Amino acid sequence: MLNFKNTTITFIVIFVGLFIISLFNDFPIWIYWVGFGIWFALITIGSFFMGLNFFTKSFTGRKGETRKRIAFTFDDGPHPEYTPIVLKLLKEYNAKATFFCIGKHVEQYPEIAKQIVVEGHTIGNHSYSHKNTIAFKGTACWLPEIKKTDSILEEITGTKPTLFRPPFGVTTPHLAKAVELTYHNVVGWNIRPYDTVVKNKKQVLLRLRRKVKPGAVILLHDTHERIEDILEHMLLYVKEKGYKMVDLNTLMNE
Ligand SMILES: [Zn+2]
Repeated sequence: MLNFKNTTITFIVIFVGLFIISLFNDFPIWIYWVGFGIWFALITIGSFFMGLNFFTKSFTGRKGETRKRIAFTFDDGPHPEYTPIVLKLLKEYNAKATFFCIGKHVEQYPEIAKQIVVEGHTIGNHSYSHKNTIAFKGTACWLPEIKKTDSILEEITGTKPTLFRPPFGVTTPHLAKAVELTYHNVVGWNIRPYDTVVKNKKQVLLRLRRKVKPGAVILLHDTHERIEDILEHMLLYVKEKGYKMVDLNTLMNE
């Protein structure tokens, strides 16, 4: 399997082999640089594409699913204005979803976090700070980010999250270690319409509709005003297509 450990071991074996050969033959040094470049490119690709399971195993959708079930996920909340709107729509359409909350936002809006759980949705851990530089931190930095959010959520909702979604979808060996030590399942997605970046709602919806399939995990954000229209259109669309909207625990385990 192509993962960080196997890739690194393979490259070390190749380098040591080349070094031994170079003791007896004339050998161009650039071959080492090319090898190092390939290794570095592989770990960079592995960091940004969770679905490759390069650093840690992650759930990015249920492969081979035939039942028409789909999981909506909302990152970066809770938000005082938009999370209640999302919750209202989900209720209207009898849909269950998963919210990957940021710990410091849960501290600010505990009532909304509680409402999410009371209404039958699942909350996952999305770090405490969600800082821009967080992806490149060591395990010692990741552990309090994850544990603090777990404690806050457990205190407010009565349930400790078992799911973790890495901020920006970036994984590293340090994060892999931290999620292993804190017993979380890592969750990604397989439909991402870039709803926070693409301002044109039609474009976002087009991208979403094109990619809908059984077992898919959709990444959205309950942090901007466009989410109301996008979500309402999508809920209507998947309902008409005969999909059931389930939370991640249901999609992963049933
Ligand atoms: Zn995020």
